[in-house]
Amino acid sequence: MSKIKDVEIFLPVFRQENPQYDSSFILKYRGRVVARVITDDGVEGYGMTFADPVAEYIQKILKEEIVGKDPLAFEDIWNAMYTQIRSSGRKGVALMGMSAIDIAIWDIRGKILGQPIYKLLGGVNRLIPAYASVGFLSMPEDTVLEKSLEYVEDGYSMLKIKVGYDLGQNLRADYRRVERVRRAVGDDIHIIVDANGIYDAATAVRFARMLETLDVSLFEEPTHADDIAGLARVRAMTGVPIAAGENEYTKYGCRDLLCADAVDVLQFDITRAGGFTEMTKIIALSQAFNKKIAPHFWPQFSAHLLSAAQNGLYLEVFPTPKGVREGENIITNQPPVVKGQYEIPDGPGLGLDFDYSYLSRYKAPNY
Ligand SMILES: [Mg+2]
Repeated sequence: MSKIKDVEIFLPVFRQENPQYDSSFILKYRGRVVARVITDDGVEGYGMTFADPVAEYIQKILKEEIVGKDPLAFEDIWNAMYTQIRSSGRKGVALMGMSAIDIAIWDIRGKILGQPIYKLLGGVNRLIPAYASVGFLSMPEDTVLEKSLEYVEDGYSMLKIKVGYDLGQNLRADYRRVERVRRAVGDDIHIIVDANGIYDAATAVRFARMLETLDVSLFEEPTHADDIAGLARVRAMTGVPIAAGENEYTKYGCRDLLCADAVDVLQFDITRAGGFTEMTKIIALSQAFNKKIAPHFWPQFSAHLLSAAQNGLYLEVFPTPKGVREGENIITNQPPVVKGQYEIPDGPGLGLDFDYSYLSRYKAPNY
């Protein structure tokens, strides 16, 4: 039996000079936190998440819980970590650290068993539909229009537009941003509108009703992630399907959204919610409530989940001329998105080649 020997953390994270922003959040840094888990017989697995402090949390709290364990025992490892974060975590940085490690554990699992993760999950499809996230609220409207047309030309049939000008107090400007795209791309393209949680429930209801005239497919995070009652109110008062969950954690957070009848589409993020181990449970819960799943970001990981999820919809990608933007320097065999379809690599585990020599330049200090 192989055993986990060590965890290394890399921080290719850079402060942005002109940060992008959405309605409620400034992206001061770009980059990733990368976790590399190594076994005593030389198998390595990689996982990623955001937020620098995760590095210290993993080293001080989580690492001790996994070193020495059987890398195939993903439930045992997950539960050991979750037990240890009881009083200092359960959401936020603690779960992000757990998620990165769990993803790496599944990468190792696939390599030991000689199978890609989507097959371990019981999936068949390697081509997974994806939508193009057009840009942040900081992107000028003319650029949004230009990019939207470019992505449609490239074969995407679904776009995401962010709204929430003036802290959610300018619905006419928000409406215009979406309307211009709808006019430009025509009626056959699906449009998701993302407010990043900036509205109160009453304002969100007003805006949802305006969006009904633009045939919007999904209204994402109309209210703050902690305003689940407000979200349920918005959902009850509009015909536009409601999506949320990217800022929620674990099966318990999923249960709260489902029991409040607050969502139509769950958008849990595998690098926050608890990795593959927890996402399979979140997907099962969403199936029991007859809801759909469209994971937030990270197509390299989430594609495996959607290959197997009967209620899965589509991935989120930020397209570039090269394909997918995230992790361009970190992953050397970045899978392509062709005509709005993301292709899962067929190698074992994640099927991704991480550039260790690049990452080594950004090794986190030992805390
Ligand atoms: Mg979002």
